[in-house]
Amino acid sequence: MLGGIEAGGTKFVCGIGTGPDDLKTASFPTSDPDVTLRQVIEYFQVNAGKDLEAVGIGSFGPVDLDTASDTYGFITTTPKQGWANFDLAGTVARALNVPVGFDTDVNAALLGEARWGAAQDLAHAIYLTIGTGVGGGAMVQGQVIHGLVHPEIGHLRLPHDWAKDPFPGTCPYHGDCLEGLACGPAMQKRWNAPAATLPHDHPAWALEANYLALALVNLTLTLSPQRILLGGGVMQQPQLFALVRAEFSKLMNGYVQHPDVLTGLDQFIQPPGLGSRAGVLGSLVLAELEQAATMLDHVIRERENRGNKA
Ligand code: ADP
Ligand code: ZN
Repeated sequence: MLGGIEAGGTKFVCGIGTGPDDLKTASFPTSDPDVTLRQVIEYFQVNAGKDLEAVGIGSFGPVDLDTASDTYGFITTTPKQGWANFDLAGTVARALNVPVGFDTDVNAALLGEARWGAAQDLAHAIYLTIGTGVGGGAMVQGQVIHGLVHPEIGHLRLPHDWAKDPFPGTCPYHGDCLEGLACGPAMQKRWNAPAATLPHDHPAWALEANYLALALVNLTLTLSPQRILLGGGVMQQPQLFALVRAEFSKLMNGYVQHPDVLTGLDQFIQPPGLGSRAGVLGSLVLAELEQAATMLDHVIRERENRGNKA
């Protein structure tokens, strides 16, 4: 039995199971780390107990993914009260005494989609969420990218036509980066109304599609994904996908000569297949990967011990 935790800025979704068919979940508000973690740990103790073999965590960030670092598994510089420099993976590992896999929330969601969702059988894919913030994970040759720290796709810099859109953006670091221009709260601030209440033919959606398509073109040109999945609250607008695809086509202008981005855009840019369960299901994949790595580690160490005795 595996455990998954989608650690978000508003709630922690915990899951127990092996995949979409047997997944059971519960969620707890993200309050004080001590309070939230006590609830999370108790959930696994009560509902899985000794059957729990490993846990995976997909976390809001920034996070430290460098296994050689003293602060591996920590949430690092978040402005979220109480959570900066919090040892999330370590706290869970010590309390439950099982291997703990750790990655960003968006990398976890992408792993879930690659295993059971809309990116199955693809080696190169991108997952973006456009909600309270904008975040993204990328898989290249079957591996999610970590790199120096981890990609921060939400903060891509985009051309910003100030005459057309005088809104300065909401990002505290950059103002008008992708997140600053296109997240749900940016839409609300620009148009003085919650994004969900703007009519389908409001000019807000064409502008939103333009910013998202600019980001998607840049991502396609740099990482050459086979598919891009767009999730999050803002993408609940059904008309937005067609607008993004049309804008993407226009901006790309036929440059990438592959049928998937010429005539197959309905598939190339599409919603996640697992909906809101992508993150927690992906955390199960992280648990499974960590369990396998731990077993391999044991085998190697045992062999070394035997070698030393001989
Ligand atoms: P989070 O990013 O916090 O995990 P969501 O992905 O659900 O959560 O994003 C929430 C944001 O998405 C809200 O702040 C709002 O701006 C926007 N949103 C939610 N529902 C809709 C909708 N139906 N249409 C457009 N925007 C929406
Ligand atoms: Zn930014």
